[in-house]
Amino acid sequence: MIIGALEAGGTKMVCAIGDEKGNIYKRCQIPTDTPHITMPKLIDFYINEGIDALGIGCFGPIDPNKNSNTYGHITTTPKLPWRNYNIVKTFHDALNVPIGFDTDVNGAALGEATWGSLKDCDVALYITIGTGIGVGVCIKQIPLHGLIHPEAGHILLKRVYNDDYKGTCPYHCDCFEGLASGPAIEGRWGKKAYDLKEVSEVWELESSYIAQAITNYILCYSPSRIVLGGGVMHQEQLFPLIREKVIKYLNGYIDTKNILEDIENYIAPPLLGEESGIKGALVLGYQAYKNYS
Ligand code: ADP
Ligand code: ZN
Repeated sequence: MIIGALEAGGTKMVCAIGDEKGNIYKRCQIPTDTPHITMPKLIDFYINEGIDALGIGCFGPIDPNKNSNTYGHITTTPKLPWRNYNIVKTFHDALNVPIGFDTDVNGAALGEATWGSLKDCDVALYITIGTGIGVGVCIKQIPLHGLIHPEAGHILLKRVYNDDYKGTCPYHCDCFEGLASGPAIEGRWGKKAYDLKEVSEVWELESSYIAQAITNYILCYSPSRIVLGGGVMHQEQLFPLIREKVIKYLNGYIDTKNILEDIENYIAPPLLGEESGIKGALVLGYQAYKNYS
């Protein structure tokens, strides 16, 4: 089978041709401009490859509900040219193949759940901490939707004492993303996050917010394992700080050895590295093909 995969991001589109085993034969990157400029370039990449299906992991929020009038649209995104854009229809009209459509983070969770750190996890949780914060959830290899899909980067947290940074979220100011995304670190400390490696205060505070969020996700979703990816998590010193704080915040309430004795494996980096999203898009394409035929 030949599958087209697209990781549609706010700054770049990562495109690939591969298969259901996770092999990738061809790839390219296209900057994200307006749909009018970007979509023809994307279609050009896939059109003569003989793909049997296309999988799209897309920046959101999106409408992934097939019974909805706005299925296939990117919805309330702050990226105005893409707001209410029906990306699935444009691809379907041009390529006429089954299309799997989900959030970028549900895609990344699915990639890790298929070939990575979340393999064999019934409830797989993938968190990315980058320009934004997003959370993908897969239950037995099926991305979680419900009402729309999790938007767990926007949960509200308790502020750490003395942190008076106003937050970057255009909707909520000081939600998780507003307090702990890459731009929030840069806004609060006045320097690029990667230039702050040696400033321990930065990572103490950052790990407090991430650990609070993870504590909430453990309590709400009961994940089998949690993967933490995205640009900010290149600061590997965050991992032990986060693990220690999650144990502290749970305070023994969730009494499992995965957390109390094996937290290094319970809160882990992505095994697929930068490939979780694009490989997850291959799985989305494969699942769409199977559901169609
Ligand atoms: P995106 O979220 O746009 O897909 P990334 O996951 O790479 O892309 O996140 C970009 C954000 O991560 C930026 O705010 C950047 O400052 C931050 N970032 C990237 N690399 C590092 C690093 N090595 N250390 C800390 N922060 C980083
Ligand atoms: Zn928010």
